[in-house]
Amino acid sequence: MTQSLCDFAPPYIRDIAPYVPGKPISELERELGISDIIKLASNENPLGASPRGIQAARAALEGIALYPDGNGYELKQALMRKLGVAMESLVLGNGSNDVLELVARAFLRPGAAAVFSQHAFLVYPLVVKATGARAIVTPALHYGHDLVAMARAVDADTRIVFVANPNNPTGTFETLAAIEAFLRSVPRQVLVVLDEAYTEYLPPAQHTNAAALVQAFPNLVVTRTFSKAYGLAGLRVGYAVAQPEVADLMNRVRQPFNVNSVSLAAAQAALDDSEFLERSRQVNEQGLRALELGFKRLGLEFIPSLANFITVRVGAAAAVYQGLLKRGVIVRPVGNYDLPEFLRVTVGTPAQNERFLKALQSVLHEQPHR
Ligand SMILES: *Cc1c(COP(=O)(O)O)cnc(C)c1O
Repeated sequence: MTQSLCDFAPPYIRDIAPYVPGKPISELERELGISDIIKLASNENPLGASPRGIQAARAALEGIALYPDGNGYELKQALMRKLGVAMESLVLGNGSNDVLELVARAFLRPGAAAVFSQHAFLVYPLVVKATGARAIVTPALHYGHDLVAMARAVDADTRIVFVANPNNPTGTFETLAAIEAFLRSVPRQVLVVLDEAYTEYLPPAQHTNAAALVQAFPNLVVTRTFSKAYGLAGLRVGYAVAQPEVADLMNRVRQPFNVNSVSLAAAQAALDDSEFLERSRQVNEQGLRALELGFKRLGLEFIPSLANFITVRVGAAAAVYQGLLKRGVIVRPVGNYDLPEFLRVTVGTPAQNERFLKALQSVLHEQPHR
């Protein structure tokens, strides 16, 4: 039998499960012919974007005939001031997903392995498998990372361990002490990627000092993003802090102009918008409490979260998801995260949270079997 074109793609590429993003509002509008839809499915900031970021993005439009600064000098300067890291320790990405992929491409290959947890962010298996490396998945502990098991799972082929803190989609959090103990237990020739996409939502006392951590643990890469608390998901900007030798390797596999000029300008301006960040954090904290209370009233189990979303056990998740769609509320099923009975809901504005809880109550009322 003759082979078709796609049979010649590497088996590890054909094996990759496509990433399923949250349903866009416009798609549901087309399907149901309704308006007034709310999307609580992709952990976007319900307050919108940092006003300073928007203003800078508008101004930067004047210059889009030119290629962006491929080194992102000005954003890196701003990050240096904010984080106290050296320029050489920074890698900018088209979203932090890009940065995660850069680490994988720089350090993995067929025959190598990477460790991550059950229920961890699905971009890890995606970037690992794209290199032909083997994924080692450790069982979760109370829905979170079992850091002891993860350190033990490191074998001779392992080059990277991915830790999401807080994790998506479970919202689980490991203390700095636990992370440090874990870092001490991982061999120095194995890279640890600490994905802090939601770090700005943590209570200030829980904020980590990426510069100090990377100084203490040279095999550490800390990744962060402008997509969540800064509200710039559509512009795609993230960054990594790593020791200069590691950052250098990541920069070599990076596309020269991976972050566009409008995004660079917006991220730089948003970085110092502490007023917006603080408001985002407070609205989120109050929203989490409101959703927790709502779930308790409905008798639903949920996973306590420190991020900008919360994952709740609803039983027949596919049916509940559909019921919510019909009521114009988009959330995220997480069956592909090995959590088939759960739905993940992004914390919205107070009005959105209330509307979601009302819709959920109505759906559950309709479907007593759970
Ligand atoms: C949302 C998220 C990111 C950020 O993705 P971007 O590419 O920066 O938009 C990274 N890691 C986790 C765990 C996330 O949930």
